[in-house]
Amino acid sequence: MTARTLFDTAVEAARAWHASLPDTRAFCPWPTDLHWADRAPHPLPAADLLPTQPGATQPAAAPLLAALQALAPHVEWRHTYPADEVGQDFLDAFGWFELAGPHGHFHSTQTRITLGYWGPGLYYPRHQHGPEELYTVVSGTGLFRSDGDADATLGPGGTRFHRAHQPHDMATEDQPIVTLVFWRGAGLDDKPRISPDED
Ligand code: ZN
Repeated sequence: MTARTLFDTAVEAARAWHASLPDTRAFCPWPTDLHWADRAPHPLPAADLLPTQPGATQPAAAPLLAALQALAPHVEWRHTYPADEVGQDFLDAFGWFELAGPHGHFHSTQTRITLGYWGPGLYYPRHQHGPEELYTVVSGTGLFRSDGDADATLGPGGTRFHRAHQPHDMATEDQPIVTLVFWRGAGLDDKPRISPDED
């Protein structure tokens, strides 16, 4: 199977996942402007971790997880944050890629769809960004915290919405977490930034 075929399979699995969850359907329509962008792979440790340590999933998420795992060697993995902000241990077990979006494997200006992987025992520091985002958990478990909302421990099928510029963080314990994240609003290609410390 060619890499392009794997990407087509993954985007179709993501479309079905989007259609299966009321929160994602309410958050944004499935983009109608996707076109293949032919981006080169960029390996990071998550390329090996996603296929081998995805955490527990459920039947509804299994096709999407399998499709995303098959993509792992072929995607442009990114870190965004430098080691002096998040620590080298974090970077050794974290990675994300843009399946669709302004800089995605499929170009879209309507939305952005990213995959995020975090290994067990990581703390993703409090950060914020202009576009709104909706996390969906594909496998594993994480504790999501955001200013003004109750904490939530989420597993497969769970969703978490972050408003524009709402500071939020996330932590994993004994499980890793695989998330598919939908974005909307202005500044889709702006980088997140670490939030100022709370008083
Ligand atoms: Zn965020």
